[in-house]
Amino acid sequence: MTVEAPNIISPKVDGTDHPFAVPSQAVQATELSKPIELQQQARKVIVLGAGISGLTTGILLREKGYEVEIWTKKTSPDTTSDVAGRVWFPYFKDGIPQEDQDFLTNIGSITRDTFEEQRRNFGSEATGIISSKVIDLKLKKTKLPWWKAAADNLHHPHPDSDPEEKLPEGYKDGFVFQAPVIEMPKYMGFLMDMFTAAGRDGKRGTIKILDKSITNISDVFEQSLIVVNCTGMGSRELFQDTSLHAGRGQVLQARPIDGMRRVLIDEDTNPDKPTYIVPRLNDMILGGSNEGVLKDTPEGREESRETPEETQSILERTSRLDPRINQVTSDDVKPHVGFRPNRRVGVRLKIGNENISPDKLLVHNYGHGGSGITLSWGSAAEVVKIVDEVTRNWPN
Ligand SMILES: Cc1cc2nc3c(=O)[nH]c(=O)nc-3n(C[C@H](O)[C@H](O)[C@H](O)COP(=O)(O)OP(=O)(O)OC[C@H]3O[C@@H](n4cnc5c(N)ncnc54)[C@H](O)[C@@H]3O)c2cc1C
Repeated sequence: MTVEAPNIISPKVDGTDHPFAVPSQAVQATELSKPIELQQQARKVIVLGAGISGLTTGILLREKGYEVEIWTKKTSPDTTSDVAGRVWFPYFKDGIPQEDQDFLTNIGSITRDTFEEQRRNFGSEATGIISSKVIDLKLKKTKLPWWKAAADNLHHPHPDSDPEEKLPEGYKDGFVFQAPVIEMPKYMGFLMDMFTAAGRDGKRGTIKILDKSITNISDVFEQSLIVVNCTGMGSRELFQDTSLHAGRGQVLQARPIDGMRRVLIDEDTNPDKPTYIVPRLNDMILGGSNEGVLKDTPEGREESRETPEETQSILERTSRLDPRINQVTSDDVKPHVGFRPNRRVGVRLKIGNENISPDKLLVHNYGHGGSGITLSWGSAAEVVKIVDEVTRNWPN
């Protein structure tokens, strides 16, 4: 996976103008309580999509004083973001070219800081965010990854000083770090509340639920000069982006097991079948898979149903990571299936070149693959920079 860096703004995000960069600002930002000069002359923005990308983008645009409507086919709990994401973890099945690594490290770092900030300010019960020890397991000795600067205290395991860092049998190494783990439907509710909360001017963010998917972007531009596209896999049809390919993932939701707290991930043994155990605030997620399918083919639709074979495979694989999983049976779990918006040519976080007239602005924010939660707030901050930069000199 590679990243198409923003074409107007430097791809580096220093975080200094991110609303959550300074601890005390997170509360203000959430209350939308900052006096915003732009609100007198607020420009309207329509954000397409109400997954994590659309909600975080909508919130940050509102905080900058834009009047924002989210238009979407589906909302929580029926988005990929609800089904799937949970761990802050830069996971790129196809690897990342060196030239994109700094950019992704920065937006990942902004996102992690924001999750941590929200957890501290609002608590785990309200946000669904906890902080957990994560071990990315390795079959052989491995150098620390390129994204180490974005992670909290990333190191090789020290089982002698911390028994929680003991590796399961068969693994020779690992990357250990502390990271936000998120119960997504709860967090999505928290974000929707944040987006629709009244600002100081009494105005609220609006979420418009459409009875059918948007098929022509010109229809949206009839209502606003600025449109941000956060439709995830939906961009395949809407923008004929054939580089998007769905990475099917099945996961199992289970009751938590007493004493199991750390997150274990093995993406090495079989890249099509990443295996993980993720204890969350009130439940536990067991996974998984990342297999290429085209969701919009008949075969793809078939694949969107969970399969008992996959459930069995997940239970077997995760019990090898922690034998306590042996006490979980297929009757105890609720399977979910989601489709990662994998994009062969990388995350699309830039101005759209789709035949839009010069007095209009289309910005894309999609194609985050298996890291859409991990990159969400940083990507949204990039969108705001682009919109600010391009519209700064527009006539009112
Ligand atoms: C099994 C699995 C596990 C994962 N685990 C993690 C993880 O641990 N950490 C992590 O960071 N990421 C993880 N991911 C990836 C993450 O879930 C995605 O990258 C992320 O959810 C993408 O968010 P999004 O908002 O871009 O898209 P979505 O959540 O898919 O939202 C798209 C929105 O656009 C709307 N839409 C689409 N098309 C149209 C249209 N034409 N008209 C109107 N509305 C439209 C949809 O209704 C929806 O509201 C996982 C994914 C899967 C499948």
